[in-house]
Amino acid sequence: MAAVRQALRFALDPNGQQRRALARHAGASRYAYNWGLERAKAALAARGAEDRTVAVPSAMSQHQEWNRWKKGQDGIPWWPEVSKCVAQEAFRDLARGLRAFWESRGGKRPGPRIRFPRFKQKGRSRDSFRLTGSIHLHASAVTLPRIGTVPLLEDATRWVERIGEDSVRITSATVSREADRWCVSLAVAVERAIPLSNGAGDTIGVDLGLLALATLSDGTVIQGPKALRRGLRKLRRLSRAHARKHRGSRNRAKAARQLARHHATVAHLRRDHLHQLTTRLAKTHGRIVVEDLNVQGMLGRRTLARALADAGFGEFRRQLAYKCAWYGAELVVADRWFPSSKTCSGCGAVRAELQLAERLYRCQRCGLTLNRDLNAAINLAGWAHPAVTASAAETPTACGADRKTGPSPAGGCEAGTGVAPEPTGPTGGPQTRVACVPV
Ligand SMILES: [Zn+2]
Repeated sequence: MAAVRQALRFALDPNGQQRRALARHAGASRYAYNWGLERAKAALAARGAEDRTVAVPSAMSQHQEWNRWKKGQDGIPWWPEVSKCVAQEAFRDLARGLRAFWESRGGKRPGPRIRFPRFKQKGRSRDSFRLTGSIHLHASAVTLPRIGTVPLLEDATRWVERIGEDSVRITSATVSREADRWCVSLAVAVERAIPLSNGAGDTIGVDLGLLALATLSDGTVIQGPKALRRGLRKLRRLSRAHARKHRGSRNRAKAARQLARHHATVAHLRRDHLHQLTTRLAKTHGRIVVEDLNVQGMLGRRTLARALADAGFGEFRRQLAYKCAWYGAELVVADRWFPSSKTCSGCGAVRAELQLAERLYRCQRCGLTLNRDLNAAINLAGWAHPAVTASAAETPTACGADRKTGPSPAGGCEAGTGVAPEPTGPTGGPQTRVACVPV
């Protein structure tokens, strides 16, 4: 058994009084955060520019200072109505944000540069707060400290049963507002027997795409749901409508509300769909190979950025990682420099260049012509095979033309026939279903 951390998310259906209490807590959280940030900034300024040592005030010291400060104040009448942990958790978030900034600046943190934490503004920053302590989940409600029992819009029976069995422990609750809907995300530790393997022995390569959500090396193409595509079209329309309205006008505020509400709907849809996909993958395959997409690098390009963000690559990887652990599948992330798109899955030749607009992969050596994403997925599946992985490991920094991947050219496809190569590769089974597009 091992404890797996997970978040259970439910939409809330609070009454008017509860809505006010939720808003008050979100306001208190913002207040405490800003209070802490102001002091952290003052402390940094007082040390002078030449003192470059990194100092992050700990959440605990800030909380102690806060408690002392609060006693000397009688100006915050609403504070007693708010759970004490809200401030503590806000200081924790702040400390995390400061640490991330310093680590990013010191080069100790991969990924994009993290900005110095900024003050939260009412109406502009996301309303949210975190509670710890006595939190209870019921079939159709959740009990939160200070706020009471708030009805859920969803059924939680399944989880209530598991909490009863003592295999699930709630550690904290984060409440946030998306448009005009409040949601709660319960952080839970789930005790799970982690299987050694889910019994499915095959390897599958997954190429995440823009046109299709994902292409699998067995030839399956998973489209984003229609509702999501429609939703995105509507999102663009609402966004344009919002931009056209005069700043500060009542119409603009109304358009902003509509836009935010629709945005939340689309986000839910996308998450749902990704969950279906990742569960299916983790349950039915022994080994799943995905690309190490440098999402940050790709987000720089603007048109791609939107499509990428919509496809939710980061979320896909995150879900797949924990679900693979649950279902006993192995998640393999191919090397970032592995040219999965440029390599011919038939003969292993690597093309020097491949335009993004080229939807078909055409091999100049063996004549293989194949859907670009499918070609990449097959290469990924091949990468996972121990033999191939081993050879890749020998030349970890190799990239480009000298990287041999996939099946060997022996018995490969004949030039110009447009016939799929015989499955000489280690993952042969699924590949037999691959159909080449006639040249
Ligand atoms: Zn080829």
